[in-house]
Parts: sequence; C-alpha cells; structure tokens
Amino acid sequence: MTITNGSQRAALVEGGRRLARILEELGKRVAPGVSAQTLDDLAETLIRDGGDTPSFLGYAPDGTHPYPASLCVSVNEEAAHGLPQAAKVLKEGDVVILDLGLIHDSMVVDSAITVAVGQVDERSRKLLEVTKAARDAGVAAAKPGGRVGDISHAVQCVVESAGFTIIKALGGHGLGELVHEEPFIPNFGRAGTGALLEEGMVIAIEPIVGTGKAAIRVAPDGFSYITKDGSRVACFEHTVILENGAATPVTVV
Ligand code: MG
Ligand code: MG
Repeated sequence: MTITNGSQRAALVEGGRRLARILEELGKRVAPGVSAQTLDDLAETLIRDGGDTPSFLGYAPDGTHPYPASLCVSVNEEAAHGLPQAAKVLKEGDVVILDLGLIHDSMVVDSAITVAVGQVDERSRKLLEVTKAARDAGVAAAKPGGRVGDISHAVQCVVESAGFTIIKALGGHGLGELVHEEPFIPNFGRAGTGALLEEGMVIAIEPIVGTGKAAIRVAPDGFSYITKDGSRVACFEHTVILENGAATPVTVV
C-alpha cells in the first residue's frame, strides 16, 4: 500500500515497534530443547496481549490451506513458512528463522530474524551475518523515485560476494493493507529496472539466503519450503516506509 496520511504512518510505526519487541523476546527464548510450538504460543499471546491480531494465522493466499499458526519457525534447511509443531524441537547448532506478522490499527507489519541455537558452526554464523548485512543493504538502496531492482541488486551483491546463494523463488513484497501486496521484490536483479518505488509505499525487504543450491520444494507438511539439497537458509526482514528520499524501517525496537 501507499500511505496517504499521518494516522496510517503512526499505526505502522507503532505496529512495527510492537512486532520488533515481540521478535526480540522470542529470540531470547531460543535455546536447545525449546519447541517451535512453544515459540508460536508465546508469539500469539504477546500479540493478543497488546490488543493486536496475528496476521499469518488463517492466512490463505490461494483461498485454501489457511496457515494454522501465528509464527513461522523455519529450522536449518527450511527456507520459509516452517510450521511450528510441538515435535519440532530446537537443537544445539541449529539456525532458526522466526518470521512474524501482526495487524495493528488495520496496518499489517512483517519482520523476520534468524537466530543461532547455542553454538553454531562458522559457516552458519557467517550466513546470519551476511544475510543481515544484505537486508540492511536492501534498505539503504530503497528510496522513492528508485526502482525495485535497486533493492534487488544491492541484496544480490552482498550475498554473492560473500559466497552465499539467493533463494530466488522467494522475496520481498508490498504490504500494509494485506499480508502480501504488489510489488514482488526479487533478491536478485539489475539496478534501475522493475517497478517504480513511490513516496509513501510500504514494503517488506527480506533476503532469503542459502549455503548451498537455490532450489526449494514444498515439504510434506504442505506449508514449509525446504531446500532440495538440504542446505541451510537464513532470512532477515524489515517492513519499511519509503519517504523523504529514503526507506524508514518500522520493525525496530
Ligand atoms: Mg515475514
Ligand atoms: Mg514478508
């Protein structure tokens, strides 16, 4: 969406702040032995305690298969939409993407962090560092009057120069009124190409970055995307408002 007034902007900023605080809290709870279900239960409780609504719960982009949880918990080779089941228990050395959305005053915000479970190997540690840097490079490249490809190119440069892989089937998106809106924001491409970025636009910038090959498939649970080669994936995501010549992240504490 494109925001047109100060009350919409205020709601986005407040929603983003709330979401960032909840994600921070969830990140602190990540430890060996903690189940994904526990994290999802906490996420829903914290959202509802604030008077807000989980945006992923019941979300059904194709009109069927509503997503049954508030939080996506994607462990290791799970690239996105990992289902938070009780049997999914975090282990020392795992990496876990916590992706969460909420609706505050009719405004949808979306953010993700990737957290190391205990001590992780050096390649995983680097994966997290590079993916976060790629997200920040994407935010820095986003501005009103620019193009979607400016973001795509900035993300791709950071990821590929560090020897990691863009999971090309996934990417960022518009949002605000809905969970997913136009434009789709690929994490690879050429600067100066693609849809125009306009003043007041709300978008989610989210590199999805892997350690192996880019190919993914839907897991047997029907929701989770997993890499075909079993390689690990990370994601960091901010919701931003394009304004005053730059992108303002709202999903910050
Ligand atoms: Mg997300
Ligand atoms: Mg998103």
